[in-house]
Amino acid sequence: MDCLFCKIIAGEIPSSKVYEDDKVYAFRDINPQAPVHVLVVPKEHIAGADSITAENSSAVAAVFEAIPKIADLEGLTNGYRVITNCGEDGCQSVRHLHFHLVGGKKLPESMA
Ligand code: 5GP
Ligand code: ZN
Repeated sequence: MDCLFCKIIAGEIPSSKVYEDDKVYAFRDINPQAPVHVLVVPKEHIAGADSITAENSSAVAAVFEAIPKIADLEGLTNGYRVITNCGEDGCQSVRHLHFHLVGGKKLPESMA
C-alpha cells in the first residue's frame, strides 16, 4: 500500500519519533503549527475518522490511551488540543488516520 504514514511507521521514511508502543506511533510534524506538534497514529492502517468501525476502534482507543503519556513527555502541563482532519472538507492531506497533538502555547479559540 502506498501510504506515507505506513512507510514512516515501518521506518522506510525517517521521522522524529516521540513515542511508540505495540499499537501506536507518534512523531513530530514536519511543518509544526505550534511549539509542540506531534502526529499520533495507529500502526494499523485506517484511512481516516470516516473509516473507524467496531472492528478497528481498539486502535483508536490505544491512540487516546497514549496521548496523555505523550503530553507528559512533551511537558504539556497546561493543556493541549487534539485534532483530526477528515476527508476533503476537513482538509485531510494524508489518508492514514492521525491525531494532531498541539500545544506549548495558548491556542486560538476558533476551531473553524
Ligand atoms: P492532515 O493535513 O492530513 O491533517 O495532516 C497531515 C500532516 O502531516 C501535516 O501537518 C503535514 O505537515 C504532516 N506531514 C506531511 N508529510 C510529512 C512527513 O513526511 N513527515 C512528517 N513528520 N510529517 C509530515
Ligand atoms: Zn497507512
